[in-house]
Amino acid sequence: MLVTDLPPTNKVLLPTVFEISRPGRVGVAMPASDVGETPISELLPGVPLRADLPLPEVTEGELVRHFIKMSSLNYCVDKGFYPLGSCTMKYNPKVNDMAVNLGGFARIHPYQPESTVQGALEVLHSMQENLSAILGMDAVSLHPAAGAHGELLGMMLIRAYHAHRGESHRKFVIVPTAAHGTNPASAARCGYKIVPVNTDERGLVDMAHLEAQIEKHRSELAGFMLTNPNTVGLFESDILQISQMIHDAGGLMYGDGANMNALVGTARPGDMGFDVMHVNLHKTFSVPHGGGGPGSGPVGVKAILEPFLPVPQAVKKADGTFGLDYERPLSIGKVAPFAGAFLAVVRAYAYIRHYGRENLHRISEDAVLNANYLRVELADTFPVAYDRVCMHECVFTLKEWKKFGVKALDVAKRIIDYGYHPPTMYFPLIVPECLMIEPTETESIETLDAFVVAMKQIAAEVQTDPELLRSAPHIAPVRRLDEAFAARRLDLAWSPQEKFAATMED
Ligand SMILES: *Cc1c(COP(=O)(O)O)cnc(C)c1O
Repeated sequence: MLVTDLPPTNKVLLPTVFEISRPGRVGVAMPASDVGETPISELLPGVPLRADLPLPEVTEGELVRHFIKMSSLNYCVDKGFYPLGSCTMKYNPKVNDMAVNLGGFARIHPYQPESTVQGALEVLHSMQENLSAILGMDAVSLHPAAGAHGELLGMMLIRAYHAHRGESHRKFVIVPTAAHGTNPASAARCGYKIVPVNTDERGLVDMAHLEAQIEKHRSELAGFMLTNPNTVGLFESDILQISQMIHDAGGLMYGDGANMNALVGTARPGDMGFDVMHVNLHKTFSVPHGGGGPGSGPVGVKAILEPFLPVPQAVKKADGTFGLDYERPLSIGKVAPFAGAFLAVVRAYAYIRHYGRENLHRISEDAVLNANYLRVELADTFPVAYDRVCMHECVFTLKEWKKFGVKALDVAKRIIDYGYHPPTMYFPLIVPECLMIEPTETESIETLDAFVVAMKQIAAEVQTDPELLRSAPHIAPVRRLDEAFAARRLDLAWSPQEKFAATMED
């Protein structure tokens, strides 16, 4: 598309020229060599010197503009509404960044003597305590680098627990068909066999099916991996009965708390019967994510699993100082370098302490209120998958729109033209033509209302001009991409003209 075809607001966003290198232009002034008269080529002979290395030649000013333009092409939470369900894109409070930039956090080294990093160790210890209290668990490991990593650790702990009791023959783990794909993957990675359980017409665990599956594998059941609120945004109201059934069969309850936005400060998974769970600091606790991390997916456990936690654990010693405890004979070992993604922990700690014990519940209350507001406002144009009060996210099904030749994907792409990031789509797998919207707790009523107006306009376009959706997005820097290759074959580096031309032809 020519730049002149674009609506005026978008013109300024597009870099008109990407390849700005011109022979002879320089952006740096290198100081003269101060190692005497010997030419560099003699000091560094051979391979490192490549006269033919094609480097871009640009001035400093052009370089700055290039990167600023590129960064503004990116969509981010600081730019606009980002209603991604399940994978929660929360506002990242700037005070969190101030905290991580404090010298005592940013400029320390993991090999420093404990006496010189007491403040950092206190944060780790306090975070273990704070998260234990929020989750209703007895202990927390801050080591996992992501939610999926937390699941893996959690399943390793379940495996260690059964092995310690001489029950290694327990090899089945029940997972709802609606679960996040990482759940069955994590269990399988630990050598477990996956037993699926269905979702019923309420949008909840099908209790009859669950009972049948438990019966079938009773003596070999290792556990149940459950997300609550579940992946269609509903609270599993049979949770106490479910936990009882699993415990009676000798299994453990694993909680996927990647997204705990509906529960923080209001309800505790530990009270629902979960024995082990992970929670994503980069979803629930406002740490930024995307672009590969660093994330953090701490794992909380009940006392029965605590002996198996990875080393080290942050501890408060008898003399009141803080340290790292490696003396844990039943520990499964190490799952991460040092003590985990420390600065992610500091950010989440700042967020939790900002609200404080008294106000933490406002996070979940506002998250649930905002999601229900969108559900109700959109329900007459967008069919809700399960028409009842939702938790922190609401799920729509656009299967009826196939008659207009429009898919959920087309709606998602059209949303980009209205200036919003698309919601999560095609997850969970059990909902056909699924859109999953999660507004989070910080969005204002004006933002939500404007989004509703845009969504309703798109719903009208479905009837009047479906081609507009099928060919969307129209005003983004790029059209439709190959979703898999766009993430796996990132084209991030400058390449000389010839090479660039060659890749374009591929
Ligand atoms: C995001 C998510 C995960 C995985 O977390 P990552 O940090 O992306 O590995 C697991 N379960 C649910 C429900 C999630 O939303």
